[in-house]
Amino acid sequence: MQIQYKPKRNLLQTILHSEIMQGMAFTLRQLFAKPITRQYPQEKPDIKLGFRGQHALVRDKETGQSKCVACMRCVTVCPSRCIHIRFHEDEDNGRRVVDSYDIEALRCVYCGFCEEVCPVNAVVLTEIFEYAAYDRESIFFDQERLLANWDAFAEMKGAAIENYVNPFWRPRGIPESRLPAAKRLDVPEEWTIEGQVVGNLVKREQ
Ligand code: SF4
Ligand code: SF4
Repeated sequence: MQIQYKPKRNLLQTILHSEIMQGMAFTLRQLFAKPITRQYPQEKPDIKLGFRGQHALVRDKETGQSKCVACMRCVTVCPSRCIHIRFHEDEDNGRRVVDSYDIEALRCVYCGFCEEVCPVNAVVLTEIFEYAAYDRESIFFDQERLLANWDAFAEMKGAAIENYVNPFWRPRGIPESRLPAAKRLDVPEEWTIEGQVVGNLVKREQ
């Protein structure tokens, strides 16, 4: 069997190099065609509720500090081992006080386990998706940066942050009654669609 590698061309096609002409015509058409790719960064993507972006430590409105109680659940559950917390116990009341809270964001796999297990909704993944940086240190989040991330997210959401409920802040498929109090949040209407599981609420629309 003979394999034909070269296309058959007549003399005129050979002289004019018709394939090159076709290729150039295609390129010329594309120059004036509407782009099919998103023109980032001028055009930002539409981020949906539940998107897992930059980590943040939620700032307590009353104290101005992180809500973290140093229970270490997020550290234990993190499959990437990228959360590092140091704490000490208050001599007066025995409560744990966080000394440092760091997340190596470049090692994170965005599984969302940390925010699911956090009993007080202290650590969360926000809808801030941009991670571009010029050095590795910028993507190593310390406590200050994590709180600043929350402030930036709160500013982005505006007044809506008061009622903001990210469904990934709570474990799915577990009855409401067995969730910690902070996890029993009102679920917005837009999150009761498409068979999403939130607590023990499952809605399957036909
Ligand atoms: S999202 Fe997953 S991998 Fe990332 S910090 Fe949280 S638990 Fe770790
Ligand atoms: S699970 Fe929540 S409260 Fe516990 S250490 Fe992590 S961030 Fe802090």
